[in-house]
Amino acid sequence: MEDCVFCKIIKGEIPSKKVYEDDEILAFYDINPIAKVHVLVIPKIHIESLLELKDEHKYLLFNIFEKINEVAEMVGVDKTGFRVISNVGKDAGQAVKHLHFHILGGETLPTR
Ligand code: 5GP
Ligand code: ZN
Repeated sequence: MEDCVFCKIIKGEIPSKKVYEDDEILAFYDINPIAKVHVLVIPKIHIESLLELKDEHKYLLFNIFEKINEVAEMVGVDKTGFRVISNVGKDAGQAVKHLHFHILGGETLPTR
């Protein structure tokens, strides 16, 4: 996807502060953090949102969630707790149309 900011990050065309990378997953710090720790975990293939998930993504999705736990440990929030969010569409305020999971933590998060 040519004008997808996260595809550009994956290709290295836009710099990012990486936490973890393998063949299919990238984790990097959010440029505009809303919590003391704010990391994004994304698949390297362009999937627009959770709404676009297909059977063929089952294995990938499990791997992403496994990696979310590992990344939480890497950035030091696994013991204190963290929140995982994936915004889908307009009302959720999804700004980047490339599936991503926010990991938020490092402090007590607002309940609403
Ligand atoms: P959304 O609202 O789509 O769920 O979240 C998109 C997130 O991507 C936002 O939290 C925003 O700060 C982050 N973001 C947008 N552009 C960039 C960028 O170029 N680099 C990084 N590291 N994060 C970005
Ligand atoms: Zn993309």
